[in-house]
Amino acid sequence: MADALWVNDLHSALNATRVARVLQPVGREQICAIVREARAAGASLALSGGRHAMGGQQFATDQWLLDLRAHAAVHAFDAERGLITVDAGIQWPALMAACASLPARPDGLRWGIRQKQTGADRLTLGGSLAANIHGRGLRLPPIVGDVEAFTLIGPDAVARRCSRDENADLFALAIGGYGLFGVIADVTLRLAPRVPVRRSVEILTLDELVRVPAERDTSDWLFGDFQYSIDERSPDFLHRGVFSAYRRCEEPPDETEPQKQLHEADWVDLLALAHTDRAKVFDVYSGYYLSTHGQRYWSDTHQLSIYPDDYHAALDRRFGSPCRCSEMISELYVPRPALGEFMGRAAELLRGAGVPVIYGTIRLIERDTETFLAWAREPWACVIFNLHCEHTPAGLQQAAKTFRALIDLALVFGGSYYLTYHRWATRAQIEAAHPRFRAFLEQKKTHDPEDRFTSDWYRHHRDLFAD
Ligand SMILES: Cc1cc2nc3c(=O)[nH]c(=O)nc-3n(C[C@H](O)[C@H](O)[C@H](O)COP(=O)(O)OP(=O)(O)OC[C@H]3O[C@@H](n4cnc5c(N)ncnc54)[C@H](O)[C@@H]3O)c2cc1C
Repeated sequence: MADALWVNDLHSALNATRVARVLQPVGREQICAIVREARAAGASLALSGGRHAMGGQQFATDQWLLDLRAHAAVHAFDAERGLITVDAGIQWPALMAACASLPARPDGLRWGIRQKQTGADRLTLGGSLAANIHGRGLRLPPIVGDVEAFTLIGPDAVARRCSRDENADLFALAIGGYGLFGVIADVTLRLAPRVPVRRSVEILTLDELVRVPAERDTSDWLFGDFQYSIDERSPDFLHRGVFSAYRRCEEPPDETEPQKQLHEADWVDLLALAHTDRAKVFDVYSGYYLSTHGQRYWSDTHQLSIYPDDYHAALDRRFGSPCRCSEMISELYVPRPALGEFMGRAAELLRGAGVPVIYGTIRLIERDTETFLAWAREPWACVIFNLHCEHTPAGLQQAAKTFRALIDLALVFGGSYYLTYHRWATRAQIEAAHPRFRAFLEQKKTHDPEDRFTSDWYRHHRDLFAD
């Protein structure tokens, strides 16, 4: 796989794709020139950022791949309003470093990002908008709420500014539009005041978790996520977990005092333990988190996390695995009052299927009222299942079957699932979980009739809804 024309996603490694060309533009002009060249050549373009999507959204077999990671300049900063304009290929660590280097406002206020994904950092802003991501805010809608405006380069190679007032239809389509309406070239992002926060760690049950937004002042309790027990033999399985929250405080973190933190090797050991002893891993993990109760952080940088690249290849070697394995993620949404019952039935389902859960978190998300294909149609509880998956025909079939069963279960409670992780849902499941999906495909046809922008994920869905 050393051939640069073979590309794959970073986490599941289940999307090996051979592309015709890989292009790495820098600057708006180069992007427009590539779109014009693709038009002249009759080629289609797939757009990739950090390559974390897991359903082939960023690759198209035999087509051109626009790798946007080098397109990452910082353009402008409005210190008064807390707006930063950057190229969309920028990744979170660089964006956060850019914010940190900006001058403070005359009243001393500094700005930082509002939210990013947890679990990985080298994701691009463009990829984040295209999936309409969410972080671990306790009162935040998905990232659309953080976007002031962006520039979209469409199939005609014309750059258009999109905001709630200008090209509002494209604003709503391209955020959560998986790169199908054009290249998001630059983004004006709304920042938040950068404040000190104190980590609070508790062991909670699901009932206690869903009461958090009502019982705690979320102008103060800014972030939090719940990592549930993955020990399928315990009554705590998917029921009790560690809730790590971040509450605004007065004193900034003491940069001279070393904080307790996990390093990359510790994460790999924890991941290894999750494969071999799921009762122990919860004790180790929760014990570590409880020991960090009270530590202080900044509201932006505490969102950074370590992702050990290709960790599963190391685990495969460590365990002498006869085949390539990885984790496969799915995120299910349910109305918060249904969380307890959903998780109880999911526990039965996963025990019955014999599929190990390697880790899982629950976060709370507010409703998105702005994007066309909004996945956060309600203030959901968002449940991540990271399941071990063997890359054999039987292993893949089992993973697909389990994820379909989990989607069916979420649908029983009026829930949904996140489109970014796989393309294993059936058409009936897609229609039930994403009622505007067909209309979304129609919009795609209207705005890009020649499929200048494409992906294997898109082609799969276009064909699934062909009639
Ligand atoms: C370990 C892990 C943890 C994760 N955690 C979270 C989480 O906490 N919250 C969450 O919401 N999601 C999470 N995700 C999902 C991830 O955030 C999304 O898949 C996101 O889109 C990936 O961004 P990326 O830069 O890697 O983009 P890619 O995977 O490369 O691309 C994703 C999509 O964005 C499109 N795209 C990329 N750049 C552009 C651009 N400039 N213009 C237009 N379209 C573009 C691509 O065509 C593709 O459709 C996680 C994924 C993994 C593997």
